[in-house]
Amino acid sequence: MHRARKRFGQNFLQDDGVIYSIVALINPSADMHVIEIGPGLGALTRPLLRNLNQLDLLEIDRDLVAYWNQQNLKGLKIIEGDALKFDFSDWAKNCLDRKGLCKVVGNLPYNISSPLLFHLVSAAKEIDEQVFMLQAEVVERMVAKAGSSDFSRLSVMLQARYDMELVLEVPPEAFDPQPKVNSAVVRMIPRKEFELSIAQWNSLEKVVAAAFSQRRKMLRTNLNIFTDRLNLTESELKARAQDISVDRYIEWAKVLVS
Ligand code: SAM
Repeated sequence: MHRARKRFGQNFLQDDGVIYSIVALINPSADMHVIEIGPGLGALTRPLLRNLNQLDLLEIDRDLVAYWNQQNLKGLKIIEGDALKFDFSDWAKNCLDRKGLCKVVGNLPYNISSPLLFHLVSAAKEIDEQVFMLQAEVVERMVAKAGSSDFSRLSVMLQARYDMELVLEVPPEAFDPQPKVNSAVVRMIPRKEFELSIAQWNSLEKVVAAAFSQRRKMLRTNLNIFTDRLNLTESELKARAQDISVDRYIEWAKVLVS
């Protein structure tokens, strides 16, 4: 019997209806190439595998890796490792010669969700879709629109790279042990028209971090070091970071490296 480990964010899904809905959202089909981050005891893994020829698992907990190795299930490949260090780009390159879509999925450990989402950005070019369960509050920030109080650094950076949608809300009772927070499933599709160079992306990170450094202050203050190069309008100078659109931040990032 496996005892859930807090340090690995282990909250196992147990609600069949929720599991069914998440699997339907992932929409597995035989030729699809899927990697599941954190399979745990397999709430999603087993139903996914029924519809896939092959499924890769990435798990940090050695006991769970041993558990999966013992199962000896056809089509499963178990990778022991830390998702924060895993090279998803390299993994996804194996998908390119396949016909099916390439997806990264999982009920993620909530304690590492933001760094993991940023880590995955480097593989976005090779991945077709990500379907993740996260803390609801994080998903709300990811999909928040400019002008909303949830609009934050996470919203700008991820919306610059992905089209995203909150697709399912999940209450604590769907898990064992129950988390203290509500959860939600987000679908993330890398934007096809994304064309920022690495330098432009780094510049976006800098300008967005500066803009949101003091949420209540006007951009005149937060973007002080950039204002001689950015053509901020009078109303932008008086605006707050949460009022600026993602596209406008992208324009600024480009100007700063031109
Ligand atoms: N998928 C299972 C479910 O829905 O019941 C388990 C989800 S549980 C919230 C998170 C899983 O991620 C656990 O299996 C945990 O051991 C694993 N995990 C935690 N940190 C990880 C990391 N850095 N890299 C890979 N897996 C990790």
